[in-house]
Amino acid sequence: MRLVLLGPPGSGKGTQAALLKDRLNVVHISTGDLLRAAVAAGTELGKIAKATMDAGELVSDDLVLQLLEDRLGQPDVANGYILDGYPRNLAQAKALDALLSRLEQNIDHALALIVDEEQIVARLAQRASEQGRTDDSESVVRHRLHVYAEQTAPVVDYYEAKGLLARIDGVGSIEEINQRLMDAM
Ligand code: ADP
Repeated sequence: MRLVLLGPPGSGKGTQAALLKDRLNVVHISTGDLLRAAVAAGTELGKIAKATMDAGELVSDDLVLQLLEDRLGQPDVANGYILDGYPRNLAQAKALDALLSRLEQNIDHALALIVDEEQIVARLAQRASEQGRTDDSESVVRHRLHVYAEQTAPVVDYYEAKGLLARIDGVGSIEEINQRLMDAM
């Protein structure tokens, strides 16, 4: 099973991906986590990415594609994966299609979590105080939401046009939302 999980920052993609990966026995691939690991490790790529991430902008398509390609080359992806945070714009969606066709793979479902903006700002303020992520300040959160609306929302339509999309209400308990995602597949 290969899934793309879509939704604005703070919509619960990471939380849901962590549950789904166990239920479906697949791996969770978060490009945000891959980038934060590169930053923490102090790699060249991490150094380039950090300022962009702290500003709430998208890291360049080439860098993220490189990270993703490396990750998809590892053996543990054989049973499938959940992509969380990728693709984030139309160019990435097309690059993913090209990569998957080289790998002779396809996406089974794209699942979009729907949560309204005020709820998201509240959730991310909570996460900022709990986890101290440097991009969770209110002004950067608002900017990330703006970037989402401009660049990532078209990706939802892209998967809809392919007939792969399900929209899921992302408000409720973690278990309820998890069940909605399972039901949608
Ligand atoms: P969130 O979905 O809450 O914004 P992520 O962990 O997915 O959190 O992403 C954090 C940051 O990492 C983004 O704001 C962006 O700078 C960078 N990033 C993650 N995935 C991508 C991607 N596919 N393309 C470009 N930048 C990305």
